[in-house]
Amino acid sequence: MSKFLNARIAALTAYVPGEQPKDQKYIKLNTNESPFLPSPKARKMAKSELKKCMLYPDPDCKELLSAIAVNTDMGVENIIVTNGSDEVLNFAFMAYCDENSPALFPDITYGFYKVFADLNGVPKKEIPLKADFTIDLAEYEREEGVIFIANPNAPTGLALPVSAIEKLLQANPERVVVVDEAYVDFGGESCIPLVKKYDNLLVTQTFSKSRALAGGRLGFGVASKGIIEDLNRIKYSTNPYNVNRVTAAAGTGSMLDNGYFKKCCEKIIRTREWAKSQLRYLGFTMTDSKANFLFVKHDKIGGEELYLALKERGILVRHFSQERICDYNRITVGSRKEMEILVKTIGEIVCER
Ligand code: PMP
Repeated sequence: MSKFLNARIAALTAYVPGEQPKDQKYIKLNTNESPFLPSPKARKMAKSELKKCMLYPDPDCKELLSAIAVNTDMGVENIIVTNGSDEVLNFAFMAYCDENSPALFPDITYGFYKVFADLNGVPKKEIPLKADFTIDLAEYEREEGVIFIANPNAPTGLALPVSAIEKLLQANPERVVVVDEAYVDFGGESCIPLVKKYDNLLVTQTFSKSRALAGGRLGFGVASKGIIEDLNRIKYSTNPYNVNRVTAAAGTGSMLDNGYFKKCCEKIIRTREWAKSQLRYLGFTMTDSKANFLFVKHDKIGGEELYLALKERGILVRHFSQERICDYNRITVGSRKEMEILVKTIGEIVCER
């Protein structure tokens, strides 16, 4: 750190992304990527866009917005596209949180919310999940501030019904509610239709998981026209070209290829449920994850111990040291073959104990 860094950034604890080691080939089940290739249409459109890379991209990403608008049944004025959904989430912290309006989010959730609050110098309040890891939305109503809920939540994978979020919106029309739907395509229920009724709702989604474009960095927000204008004000004040043209083309191709998208999601869901039953058989307990990951623990093996034993055998999963969840590991649902190897390896580790 240099002596020039301002105090706010110097005090910041940066987000730690999941490991991307290059020392050996691992079965990577630690960052919730898709085991599938991006859609053939996405790849074709991205490839043909490469030859236009001497030109800046369309800052409005019109084609991509139109494709998302069709798939979400919303207007283009209700959508913003960003460099991963991380960017639209950060925009929301920048736009709506301040000393009078802290960020409210669960104590166990996506780790970036805390970082975005600190980065933007806004107060935050972490609201404990219930003992069973579910979110008690009534707790949020007791506090002032902007609400950030991942639905399904990470790393628990637990989903709230849309009706519960609608109740929250109904009772809180004067504050912004952000619903992060990074994992919604694996069995959750989207709040996007509620945007037509509630002008204080921002729903964010990503192309990184269900659309197999994590490396493209593409996400989007859906909200009332006013909220989208707010977020665009930030986008045009930071980086109007936040989505590069190759990624925009890939995203458009993906949105035009719903058949492929659906098939991939169905496969992940099937494999997830298969892996759940296998791990239960091996003595694991777990949440009823509706995401593309499992959140599991075993009475006889500590969370970190299992993480290290798997790593030693060439399988990466995600372990969090936070006290409430340190007995657990979050395991991405990979291909069926990868999950068969995982189950077999875990079986061996359990037998050795
Ligand atoms: N929200 C949640 C809950 C996530 O787990 C992630 C991925 N780490 C994101 C948002 C951001 O994803 P991306 O920036 O790749 O769209």
